[in-house]
Amino acid sequence: MNHQELAERLFPNIKTVPEDMEKRYPERDLPEGAAVTRIAPSPTGFMHLGNLYGAVVDERLAHQSGGIFYLRIEDTDRKRLVENGVETIIKVFSRFGLNFDEGATLEGDNGIYGPYTQSERGPIYQTYVKDLVRKGMAYPCFATEEELAEAHRVQEANKENFGYYGKYAVWRDRPMEEVEAALDEGRPYVIRFRSEGSIEHKIKFTDLVKGQMEITENDQDVVILKSDGLPTYHFAHVIDDHLMHTTHVVRGEEWLGTLPIHIQLFDALGFKRPKYLHTAQLMKLDGVSKRKLSKRKDPEFALDYYFETGIPIPAAIEYVMTLLNSNFEEWRRANQSAPLDDFKFTAKKMSSSGALFDLDKLSDVCKNVVARMSADEVYAYTSAWAKEYDPEFYELLTRDEAYSKAILSIGRGGKKPRKDFGRWNEVKQYLSFFFDELFEPNYSEMPALDHDLIVKIAHDYAAVCEKSEAQDANAWFEEIKSLCPAYGLASDMKAYKQDPDAYKGNVGDFSMVLRVAVCGRSQAPDLFQVMQLLGKERVIERLGQVK
Ligand code: GLU
Repeated sequence: MNHQELAERLFPNIKTVPEDMEKRYPERDLPEGAAVTRIAPSPTGFMHLGNLYGAVVDERLAHQSGGIFYLRIEDTDRKRLVENGVETIIKVFSRFGLNFDEGATLEGDNGIYGPYTQSERGPIYQTYVKDLVRKGMAYPCFATEEELAEAHRVQEANKENFGYYGKYAVWRDRPMEEVEAALDEGRPYVIRFRSEGSIEHKIKFTDLVKGQMEITENDQDVVILKSDGLPTYHFAHVIDDHLMHTTHVVRGEEWLGTLPIHIQLFDALGFKRPKYLHTAQLMKLDGVSKRKLSKRKDPEFALDYYFETGIPIPAAIEYVMTLLNSNFEEWRRANQSAPLDDFKFTAKKMSSSGALFDLDKLSDVCKNVVARMSADEVYAYTSAWAKEYDPEFYELLTRDEAYSKAILSIGRGGKKPRKDFGRWNEVKQYLSFFFDELFEPNYSEMPALDHDLIVKIAHDYAAVCEKSEAQDANAWFEEIKSLCPAYGLASDMKAYKQDPDAYKGNVGDFSMVLRVAVCGRSQAPDLFQVMQLLGKERVIERLGQVK
């Protein structure tokens, strides 16, 4: 049996040859310099910040250059699959507003470079593997788990490199009769790529994030096709990114270790190598030391956390951008209201050593982003969040849309918008006092005045309020000031500061009594506007409740 016959015996059903595939997946018709990127997650059910981080890079590279951003599902590791894993991936990315031009969708494939799910591409990979076998560049390996484990033990004892290479590559140069006999016996096998590399050789390589590096050639005969007929990651990556014409591969730095295999395969197959961006791990400060963000220890690593706690999607993306590009924050300060897409993202500014994730910083970004939103946007986002995560609040918030929007308008717009909340799960607490159902006054926040005086101010003001004709905040404040002397309070702060002992307090204390009485707390937006929205009746009732 020669190589040609072996190839036929291994793949009797594969009638296609690589040239057929090359024709089926022609060059893309794109302008010069357009990047083709993909994200290629495995449907394990768990989506994390690293997925989003990489996806934003892919999306920006493609869309900034007039290229294509597509989704490929890498499901060849059948043991790791979970039910609805693919659905989760698609839904999560769509919630983050990452729009794919092409790839797997809930309704099936979109695009002519599919199938976009690796488990559906078996014959494509097999076409190439068959060709490699035909050329003597790949071979079946019948080594059992036990035999491989035994080789590992020997290597360990001899302090040698682990793996399938040199004398440990026991099926590499087996006489054809033995191969044939093993096939006759029906023994299970994998297909390995016949490496011509040597660890004595170094290759120069430039990664767009990590910069220039020297990597050692691969000398292992790696598995390219598993016994189930599906490829390993290494082979699928090379075939798919070649056929789908990916120009930039963005992936985690954990793949750097196996990069020599990928380079070797691209070269041996005669494919043009894509550019690589190996992104650094996301780190976090733990006490004084840095560590990787972890699924087990850090809830914020999971993307579900962003939905559940109501982190505004634009803020999450904006925060990822601050992690990705060191010059982003400066740009944002200078372009406060510009759309994010106006920022020129560049791989050159990416940290090669590990971006530091900081929850406080994320909270600040959330507050800034929300402060720039209109009341309508805040209402839309909050009600969408509440509908899913706090239905009772959703009922209240949407009961009178105009009222809710008017509340959310307070302190919005202008040069210094209020920054009371940054997450949708903080809105309820912020505006709770606007709803009688949620109003729980905390009178301990009353100013340091005599208790009887506090009660008197509140009760007296209820009567004043009834008749008040103040049309704006200034007129209202003048009215408050005019009431102060009767209570022994200074209406003028300057006078008060000059001789505090001459007064029981000042106009600030007076208005604080009203604030705590009406809002139930000392921190609240502009009181005049609050009272306007609540209406006299409710204000009077709350003033009367003070005891
Ligand atoms: N399926 C791989 C993963 O989930 C993708 C790596 C790549 O982007 O090439 O890690």
